[in-house]
Amino acid sequence: MKIDYMRAEFVRSFPSELEPGRLYISSHFSTASHLCACGCGHEVVTPLSPKQWVLTFDGNVSLRPSIGNWALPCQSHYVIERGEVRWAYRFTREEVQRNRESDHRLLDTARADVDGLWTRVLRRMTRRRT
Ligand SMILES: [Zn+2]
Repeated sequence: MKIDYMRAEFVRSFPSELEPGRLYISSHFSTASHLCACGCGHEVVTPLSPKQWVLTFDGNVSLRPSIGNWALPCQSHYVIERGEVRWAYRFTREEVQRNRESDHRLLDTARADVDGLWTRVLRRMTRRRT
């Protein structure tokens, strides 16, 4: 069953069995983890850092950039925005390959129209820190 809402769950370490619809966040390990929102049951681990995933919490959790599970059979692709799972388009096999080859730069380009603001904010934050 598809998940349309992710609830933040702050933990020190991840439980051995994750519950669907929860985004487990460990500041200790600087990592978040959840079961794929498509309902396939695979665990998705997202390391948190300015150059990987950036998590914000204002009562609801947001995670940027999008989560593209092309290593999983489901190939699902979505964004978690204020707790809501927003589905993004599925990458073609060729796009996945290109992304792997060129790190995340192409992904940034593909996202630019959807996430223009976020991308700019993140770039600004990253620049300030370096
Ligand atoms: Zn899945």
